Amino acid sequence: MSYMKVTSGFVQALAAIVGEKNVLTGDERKAYSRDESTGPVAVMPDVVVRPENTEAVSRIMKLANEHGIPVTPRGAGTGLSGGAIPIAGGIVLSLERMNKIIEVDRDNFCATVEPGVTLIQLYKAAGEQGLYYPTYPGETSATIGGNVATNAGGMRAVRYGVTRSFILGLQAVLPTGEVIETGGKFVKNTSGYDLTQLIIGSEGTLAIVTRVLIKLTLIPGKSEILFIPFPTLKDAIEAVPDILKAGVLPVGIEFMEKDIIQMVEKFTGVSIPMHDRNAFLMVMVEAETDEQVQATAEKIGDVCFGHGADDVFLPPNAQAKKELLEAREKFYPTISHFGMLELVDIVVPRSKIAEFVAQSKQIATDMGINLVAYGHAGDGNVHMHPIGERTPEVEAKVHKLLVELYKVGMAMGGAVSGEHGLGIAKRDYFLGVADPARVELMKRIKTAFDPRGILNPGKLFDRPGKAS
Ligand SMILES: Cc1cc2nc3c(=O)[nH]c(=O)nc-3n(C[C@H](O)[C@H](O)[C@H](O)COP(=O)(O)OP(=O)(O)OC[C@H]3O[C@@H](n4cnc5c(N)ncnc54)[C@H](O)[C@@H]3O)c2cc1C
Repeated sequence: MSYMKVTSGFVQALAAIVGEKNVLTGDERKAYSRDESTGPVAVMPDVVVRPENTEAVSRIMKLANEHGIPVTPRGAGTGLSGGAIPIAGGIVLSLERMNKIIEVDRDNFCATVEPGVTLIQLYKAAGEQGLYYPTYPGETSATIGGNVATNAGGMRAVRYGVTRSFILGLQAVLPTGEVIETGGKFVKNTSGYDLTQLIIGSEGTLAIVTRVLIKLTLIPGKSEILFIPFPTLKDAIEAVPDILKAGVLPVGIEFMEKDIIQMVEKFTGVSIPMHDRNAFLMVMVEAETDEQVQATAEKIGDVCFGHGADDVFLPPNAQAKKELLEAREKFYPTISHFGMLELVDIVVPRSKIAEFVAQSKQIATDMGINLVAYGHAGDGNVHMHPIGERTPEVEAKVHKLLVELYKVGMAMGGAVSGEHGLGIAKRDYFLGVADPARVELMKRIKTAFDPRGILNPGKLFDRPGKAS
């Protein structure tokens, strides 16, 4: 696919839609050239455009489609796979100005928001009406549009699922400029293909999300965190199915080992309880009353003692609870600080996590690479980071390591990305292990939405063309 160059006439046409101050062609474009991923290099867009409403997005897309100019949608740029990097140049279409909470509907337990609304804004707006958005995909400055586009996950997936579990409908602009509405304020719907779910997780390759209808729940009364040490990671992981079989449904179950705990202590200066133990589960529970939370915690404790745990730490007060949660949230910056070379986000069946981590670490050790692993034990999502000093030789070794890890993960019935998406960072690894028939179907779906291939080219399975 080859694309047309952005001309000064084209920039003027964009300015006629959104006003001159919302069309950036100078140094300010730099802030739109990258995201938070570690691998992919930054690429400067030819122009950044910041529409304020759906009509403007539609007019921009019509114009870009007519002229064959690539368009990369962008939320807050917190993505970890390079999805918002405009690798074919052209336009970055930033949704930052479309940041209004349109409605919180208490009767129907839902909110309608523009795509540039951040997670923190949504939590606040829902909370003010006594309602709750239960998913927690880590970075609260991310936008809802970005969460929808990446089907963001996070630590609360065991009980609540991921972003797609809470999206009732969308408004989206197709690459041709047509506006579609999907879903609605209802639970059941068997009226044709589910385009809401198709667009969720499509990483800005099928349509630009311009409005999101989100399901909300009631605020849970009480919450607790259990921090449980085990002799080995295998013991910890083997406890997880039994916790769920005991009839309790925690919000999240995280696993971690001594190496990351000690790194986070060094990075933050905060002391973590029982930091000399080998492996841990961090279990988060919610219920309506203190008694219910206590009963759930006791059941979980009993199961864990049966799997070799010799202690269950319950933070004694709100401050201790906050510190423990914050320590978990600091894993990513901690590893960045110690020289993160790559970010693996594989998902495997949760019963396979211990075996997968053990095999992966062995392969890494054999290659002379230090590999740190932690993740979401309750939903199978394993985060692994090779760490060290970045040199061309090390990068080549890390690439070989990742090829092996994806093969091992797939052989265990896994998938390449659990929550961060493929973007550009994982595109080639995905193509290396994906079923070709499935990739072909994905390409046909892409063509149906985007006949000229202008929307977020080079992502998921696609290699970008050059401007001519
Ligand atoms: C410290 C840290 C912790 C994180 N923790 C988690 C975590 O626990 N779980 C998790 O899932 N993620 C996590 N992330 C990743 C990131 O926050 C999510 O991927 C988030 O969904 C990205 O949102 P964004 O607004 O920043 O999107 P961007 O990075 O701007 O874009 C991401 C992708 O979505 C597309 N896109 C953005 N907006 C739209 C739109 N309106 N319409 C169509 N396409 C669009 C872009 O083209 C791109 O492909 C973390 C990131 C950081 C930096």
